[in-house]
Amino acid sequence: MKASIEQDDQNTSISNHSRRSFLRKTGTTAAVSALGVSQIGTVMGDDDEFCPIRQSHSEETILEGTEEEVKIYTTESRIPGPTAVVVGGTHGIEPAGWRTAHSVQNWAINSGKLIVLPEINPVAIRRETYINENGDLNDHFPPGSRPTTKLARALWQTIEAADPDVFFSLHSSQGILHELEGPPGVGQAIYPTYIDGARADAYNTVQYMNQRFNSHRSIYDFKVGNTLYGIRPRLTHKVAADLKIPGFLVEATRYGTTLETQVQWEKAIVAHLLKQNGMKVDR
Ligand SMILES: [Zn+2]
Repeated sequence: MKASIEQDDQNTSISNHSRRSFLRKTGTTAAVSALGVSQIGTVMGDDDEFCPIRQSHSEETILEGTEEEVKIYTTESRIPGPTAVVVGGTHGIEPAGWRTAHSVQNWAINSGKLIVLPEINPVAIRRETYINENGDLNDHFPPGSRPTTKLARALWQTIEAADPDVFFSLHSSQGILHELEGPPGVGQAIYPTYIDGARADAYNTVQYMNQRFNSHRSIYDFKVGNTLYGIRPRLTHKVAADLKIPGFLVEATRYGTTLETQVQWEKAIVAHLLKQNGMKVDR
């Protein structure tokens, strides 16, 4: 994400968590009846939550055979629950995003469906460039209207068809949001959509991150970035405006950090936000 684009607004939203509370409840109460306890011959407990027989993995490809073919990895639990979509690789110089997403595609889940598109901009990733010849992929998603490139349309069709309850877009930045040290940037921040509860979830996750990964250097503390109101032609804005669901743009910084650390941070952020949105993971 470029330094200038997320600086527009700072409003907060009030949370009621109603949709997510419902999902959590549904996931829990449906668990025993949906599984068929006799199949495993034991009463289900927490230890069984991530049992492999409870989930299936599948793979699809969109724009297959073209330069821009994108793989989609789906993990589906037999236990009803929320649907989450995770995308990485919007920008070809931000490996933390797609490395994290490739990890997420292998996670076990306790309920619901986890759909991962780790490399949504394959040309830019292959070339190790921020953008591809069509420009910045993240500029091709105008809220309320048709995405402006073939790739963006194929991606949006996939996301819309998934009917997600929560969305993630994983990036990294050369700098750190609101810090003078290092190059300008938007890193070490989570940018939530304006939907009820998303900003509160981001605050909880930031607190968790800063306790768990206490770096002794406060510049690396995570922050909640500005709220995404669905007013820009960017993917997470379009998710906010058109799908009206909690969504999170995640930015780790590349400044003074290793890729391994960035990935560790982003995995922890996604897992913690998923949990707040009704899906527990085993990673
Ligand atoms: Zn980016």
